[in-house]
Amino acid sequence: MSPGCIFCRIAAKEIPSTIVYEDGEVVAFRDASPQAPTHVLVIPKRHVASLDDAGDAEATLLAAMMLVAKKVAAGAGLARGYRVVTNCGPEAGQSVAHLHLHVLGGRPMTWPPG
Ligand code: 5GP
Ligand code: ZN
Repeated sequence: MSPGCIFCRIAAKEIPSTIVYEDGEVVAFRDASPQAPTHVLVIPKRHVASLDDAGDAEATLLAAMMLVAKKVAAGAGLARGYRVVTNCGPEAGQSVAHLHLHVLGGRPMTWPPG
C-alpha cells in the first residue's frame, strides 16, 4: 500500500466504493464520475503507479486485470461492445497514480478519443 494513494485505500476498504468484482489480486469498482452508463475501474490490490511502472513481474497481474475487465463487461450485459482504457502519464490524462483500467460501455463510443 502506498501512503496517501486513494485507490490503495479503496482496495483496503478504507474508502467506500461500489465494488462489482474482487479476488485476491484485483478489485473492480464503479467510477465516482461515470463517463458512460457502465464505467468501472479495474485495479490491482498491490500498488503499481501506472502501466509504465509495470514490468515483467507484473505480466500475470496485467493479464488478470484484462480478464477481469471482460468479466465486468459480461456482468454488465455489454454484449454490443465496450472499451477498455488505461491512461498513462499526464498527457494521457492519468489523474490517479495507481494503475487502473477503465471499462466503459452502454453507449456508442467515438474514435479517436479526445
Ligand atoms: P484517470 O483520470 O487517472 O485515468 O482515472 C481516474 C478515475 O478515477 C476517474 O475517472 C475518476 O472519476 C475516478 N476516481 C477518482 N477518485 C475516485 C474515488 O474516490 N472513487 C471512485 N469510485 N472513483 C474515483
Ligand atoms: Zn495505490
